[in-house]
Amino acid sequence: MTPSGAAVEPIVNALSIDVEDYFMVSAFAPHVPRNSWDSLPCRVEANIDNILALLAERDVHATFFTLGWVAERYPALVRRIVDAGHELASHGYEHYRATEQGYGPFLADIRLAKAVLEDVAGQPVTGYRAPSFSVGPANDWAFDCIALAGYRYSSSIYPIRHDHYGVPDAPRFAHEVRPGLTEIPVATVRLFGKNLPAGGGGYFRLLPYPISRWSIRRINAVDRMPAMFYFHPWEVDPEQPRVVTPGAKAKFRHYVNLRRMTGRLRSLLSEFRWGRVDRIYQSGAQ
Ligand SMILES: [Zn+2]
Repeated sequence: MTPSGAAVEPIVNALSIDVEDYFMVSAFAPHVPRNSWDSLPCRVEANIDNILALLAERDVHATFFTLGWVAERYPALVRRIVDAGHELASHGYEHYRATEQGYGPFLADIRLAKAVLEDVAGQPVTGYRAPSFSVGPANDWAFDCIALAGYRYSSSIYPIRHDHYGVPDAPRFAHEVRPGLTEIPVATVRLFGKNLPAGGGGYFRLLPYPISRWSIRRINAVDRMPAMFYFHPWEVDPEQPRVVTPGAKAKFRHYVNLRRMTGRLRSLLSEFRWGRVDRIYQSGAQ
């Protein structure tokens, strides 16, 4: 209740799914060449269908950051996402990190992904997320590309310290990075002068669920902000084929607690309000 006695509406948090298959993740990239992708058993279609069913149980709409590569091969899947009322957004064409591409190839990749997705879905795509949160101070030009390609928002920064990605001193909440382009970072909780991850990834599976619940509650109650949460279709698939020869750390991060994921997502969906990114941030930077 506010001092005036009016009820405070619970904050709607942003739910996002990065639509890629288990063998496309950046940590496995050195072991799985892109030209082998077509020959590997596909799990993304069945996993996304399971996620669509999970969201329908709770009447939740989310944003699906989808690879152009996946949309080209599974257009019916993309149409099922859109027909169920979810937002279709872009995760680039074939999962290159922005840091390994440079200005020209990056711009071409994100333009191609937008065109493919819009063609399949028959509607505009305004959101983009860089693979492995690969935008930061060293390649700030990426935001010029994202704006130039016609996107209105990006969710490409995780403001934490991590060995593969992360900008620990980046702003924690939505902010304008170019005229007409808003960056919406993945959720963090501020504790002991540090940003701790609260928006998904391996942390969500590794740490006990009550830590995630406490973190999102704190972001909503103390920061009075929506939390941006993300997960992948392969995280709800404990039976996925094992990728051979990645390092022990990559292996651990990828496979830890997969069997607990669906139950944890059910808890998240029932304990918080969730919505599409474009609807939550439609008024631009907050
Ligand atoms: Zn990805």
